[in-house]
Amino acid sequence: MTVADNGASHTGQAAPDLLIAGAGVAGLWLAVKAARAGLSVTLVERGNPGGGASGGFLGALMPHSPERWNEKKDFQFRALVDLETEIRQLESETGEYCAYRRVGRILPLLSERGRFTALDRVADARTNWGGRFRYEVHHTPARSDWPNILRAPQGIVHETLSARVSPPGLLAALLHSLALKPNFDLRLGTSVIDINPQSKRATLSDGARIGFGHVAIASGVDAFSQIARLTGMPLNAIGSGVKGQAALLDAKAPPDLPLVYDDGVYVIAHENGHVAVGSTSENTFDDPAATDDKLDQILKRARKLCPLIKEAPVIRRWAGVRPRAIGRDPMLGPVPGAPGVLAMAGGFKISFGIAHRMADCLVAGITGGDDPKAPQSFSVAYHLAKAAKNQTLQ
Ligand SMILES: Cc1cc2nc3c(=O)[nH]c(=O)nc-3n(C[C@H](O)[C@H](O)[C@H](O)COP(=O)(O)OP(=O)(O)OC[C@H]3O[C@@H](n4cnc5c(N)ncnc54)[C@H](O)[C@@H]3O)c2cc1C
Repeated sequence: MTVADNGASHTGQAAPDLLIAGAGVAGLWLAVKAARAGLSVTLVERGNPGGGASGGFLGALMPHSPERWNEKKDFQFRALVDLETEIRQLESETGEYCAYRRVGRILPLLSERGRFTALDRVADARTNWGGRFRYEVHHTPARSDWPNILRAPQGIVHETLSARVSPPGLLAALLHSLALKPNFDLRLGTSVIDINPQSKRATLSDGARIGFGHVAIASGVDAFSQIARLTGMPLNAIGSGVKGQAALLDAKAPPDLPLVYDDGVYVIAHENGHVAVGSTSENTFDDPAATDDKLDQILKRARKLCPLIKEAPVIRRWAGVRPRAIGRDPMLGPVPGAPGVLAMAGGFKISFGIAHRMADCLVAGITGGDDPKAPQSFSVAYHLAKAAKNQTLQ
């Protein structure tokens, strides 16, 4: 790997096969997969890797519910199953520890109706998840403080597919893997400010111009305006940011506890006794990085939900902005009308569970290798059609 700081000149260097804008979980997985496939890769990051939405600590890897199966659920399911092996490979390649554990998840059941729905889903899970993972309804949780037995009057769902990972651990392993690759170049502290598909050149904020075979826009919430510019759409038409706030607690909790999820509140036991709690979903906000009383409300609910963390001190508060594409699904693949330009964005709340598989799709599109085939609803064309429809309705 070579690393160039802001201002370094690239004059005379050959254009990389793949130029990537953005070193969040999306851009980093894409860089790793592309470099493994033998492509020369240059990754450009405006700040530091993980400086965007990927810089948090929740790391929940939770499936969609198992009923009404479709392409999107299937894509995510396969990604969640494969991630375990992907992470083992990354760990053995780098010696890093990603703190991945398939701990499962508990969902408290509050109403009789909820219990009946959950019971129906047992058979759906058997059909769609296969025999390896279970989705069961129990009368009580294994521990009365995780979750609070009184918060689950109709029992609980316990499923064994969900997992968790340490976001900083995973990002460190991805970066370490890239550091071992001779065909990888990292440019920090500079942004991709213009992409010219005709001349196949990108301009960076430090004045450098880089040619490319392909360029991938993996710049989180900023990807939407970049893609809008290339496709002649209004800047805010194809996606937006949804702010989330989270907290990390020193709870001396066992690391193998299942995730607990209840109506937007996640409680996730990590290593070292730490427990992550999240998260708000804010469509409007003034300061994307500030934490406030909305996080206090989430914390209050989480402490009631899981008495194990009732007194646990908060050791970190954090906020980030999740990228949500207009069609709600992730945005992946060629940008129509912009030859050589690819999108990998819009992972919203599930990026950590699917980014490796999204990367496989893009790399296959470049190399002609095995393509896991993303759902049609992930395509940029699908999102653009949705955006165009919204524009006409306005
Ligand atoms: C509170 C909270 C909790 C969450 N919990 C979970 C969870 O438990 N599980 C899960 O899967 N997901 C979770 N998410 C969502 C997840 O974090 C995001 O979906 C994911 O981080 C998006 O990754 P990304 O790489 O697409 O974007 P980002 O991580 O935002 O990365 C984009 C990068 O691009 C850089 N950039 C921007 N513009 C440019 C440019 N022009 N040139 C170069 N670089 C540029 C930015 O600096 C940034 O580093 C959570 C999000 C939040 C906020």
